[in-house]
Amino acid sequence: MPLTTEDMNAKMPYQHAMPADALPEIVVPDALSEGDQRMWIQQTEHVFFRPLCLNVSQGYWMNLLKVTKSGVLSRHRHPNAVHGFVLKGRWHYLEHDWEAREGSYVFEPPGETHTLVVPDDVDEMITYFQVNGTMNYVDPYGKHLGYEDVFTKIDMCRAHFEKVGLGADYVKTFIR
Ligand code: FE
Repeated sequence: MPLTTEDMNAKMPYQHAMPADALPEIVVPDALSEGDQRMWIQQTEHVFFRPLCLNVSQGYWMNLLKVTKSGVLSRHRHPNAVHGFVLKGRWHYLEHDWEAREGSYVFEPPGETHTLVVPDDVDEMITYFQVNGTMNYVDPYGKHLGYEDVFTKIDMCRAHFEKVGLGADYVKTFIR
């Protein structure tokens, strides 16, 4: 039976050019693999992040957060929404009675202040986070202790990639 126009169109790529001002895509293959450890940026002794997209025009970052020890990680306030998806392990917030487990999706609404804990029987957790705006680190009474935003993340990446021999500009792979 001859192919109809519809059959042929179904498998045909889009025939026009992408918009001239569209940014190039980012593809990070095997982002979870233990392959190239240089892609993981060490933040503290047991906390690492792997950048996926560092968005400077909208002020957010997508990253994998890896924690390799149980315990309290940080207390922080979010002025903007955060989306998380747990890829490995489990964690919870002291302020809530739910637990984020492997396969869980979490929406953190603007205005949330919470304290992340990795439970004693978990020796590694990895979570994919989209963080918008800033993470504002606070004490239990809300006193400001510091912050992170896409630009502090970029600075950390730049220093790290320089140190591991990829060159500071390697961070540009992830900046849009
Ligand atoms: Fe949070």
